Amino acid sequence: MDFELSGEDAAFRDEVRGWLSDHREQIAHTRAVDWEAGGEAFERYRSWERALFDAGLGAVAWPEEYGGRGASMVQQAIFNEEYILAGAPDRINRLGMGLLGPTLMVYGTAEQRSRHLPRILACDEIWCQGYSEPDAGSDLASLRTRAVREGDEFVVDGQKTWTSLGRFGDWIFTLVRTDPAAPKHRGITFLLVDMHSPGVEVRPLVQIDGSARFAEVFFTGVRVPAANVVGRVDDGWAVAMTLLGFERGGGLYGPALFHRILRDVIDLSRREPRGDGVAADDPDVRRRVAQSYIETRVYELTVQRALTRLARGEAPGPEASLSKLYWSEMKVRLDELALDILGPRAELGRGSPEAEHDGGWYADYLYARASTIFAGTSEVQKNIVAQRVLGLPRE
Ligand SMILES: Cc1cc2nc3c(=O)[nH]c(=O)nc-3n(C[C@H](O)[C@H](O)[C@H](O)COP(=O)(O)OP(=O)(O)OC[C@H]3O[C@@H](n4cnc5c(N)ncnc54)[C@H](O)[C@@H]3O)c2cc1C
Repeated sequence: MDFELSGEDAAFRDEVRGWLSDHREQIAHTRAVDWEAGGEAFERYRSWERALFDAGLGAVAWPEEYGGRGASMVQQAIFNEEYILAGAPDRINRLGMGLLGPTLMVYGTAEQRSRHLPRILACDEIWCQGYSEPDAGSDLASLRTRAVREGDEFVVDGQKTWTSLGRFGDWIFTLVRTDPAAPKHRGITFLLVDMHSPGVEVRPLVQIDGSARFAEVFFTGVRVPAANVVGRVDDGWAVAMTLLGFERGGGLYGPALFHRILRDVIDLSRREPRGDGVAADDPDVRRRVAQSYIETRVYELTVQRALTRLARGEAPGPEASLSKLYWSEMKVRLDELALDILGPRAELGRGSPEAEHDGGWYADYLYARASTIFAGTSEVQKNIVAQRVLGLPRE
């Protein structure tokens, strides 16, 4: 991969930087609220997404007909980097943009693409991921939610759990069992379900940090048009795995995020008192910062290698599991370092006047525990790497 930006790419970077800088106030205004509070706070994030969409910056690598600008994957990576470094807000429709969108571009019908992709980008419809069920997480193919065909519709019954953004969802892409007699990985279908349909019930789950980032979703006799099947009936496993490739391979956490967190950790270590000086004087803190810098750089190079594959038009491979394992464990270490720098003050939560960053470091630390679980646990990623990347025999 060539690390020098072409003239066109450099001009694009300047354009994005300029736009983000012109929108500094909106960025600060949006980030000042916690979107998980819902209501007006959530709508602020939605307006921010609309501003991006109107500027053609929602997802630059998407085709123009769906609201993108047909830019290269390299330009998409440049955008992501500038976005993060500018401290811009969370992408609230990330499951639609990062996971379903690219999957529909591979497997979706023309109708599905033109119906859903522009609305995903404009953030008119928020998407959720309905994969996990009680007893079907790592062992996803054990899922039991059923869909039975009746004429031009499927009737869905069952339960999904750990549904991120469930409270805000308009649509859910989900896996349902359509042939209970088939072997475990067959007889599964990938279905798009309107969450406002009769028979869909969402129950938010409150987490250790007090937020309700996800929910349980129940389906009781939900009628879904057969036209909402993505790929072929009973052959949804291939679609599901393609989507997971997009999820694990850095789609969630790009290298720029780690550079930004590291920059903030270094800044914190230079301010936080320790002994007669500051935390940054402590040799152990310095060693861990250096180690984190090396890890962030290694991750960046790994992602660039994956990007080269995508730029050549190849699909993400099982190497995405290497990436997932790496970034999720690195995130835990970085958040632990921030907490160790803060010492006992770290535990002060949101709203406490003494809290650093309004308790954000602590909230991030708690959430980081989940990063080695969602999108596939570390143990399972190790199995995939062993078997499919290294070619070792199955257990
Ligand atoms: C914050 C968060 C958000 C999430 N959001 C979503 C979402 O939006 N949509 C969605 O569908 N799901 C979501 N999930 C669910 C997530 O994908 C699952 O939690 C994950 O796949 C693990 O499944 P499980 O919880 O059933 O654990 P289990 O599969 O029961 O695993 C329990 C433990 O056993 C280990 N284990 C299991 N099988 C093996 C094996 N073969 N070899 C070695 N060890 C093994 C696991 O690694 C783990 O340590 C979310 C989870 C979290 C924590």
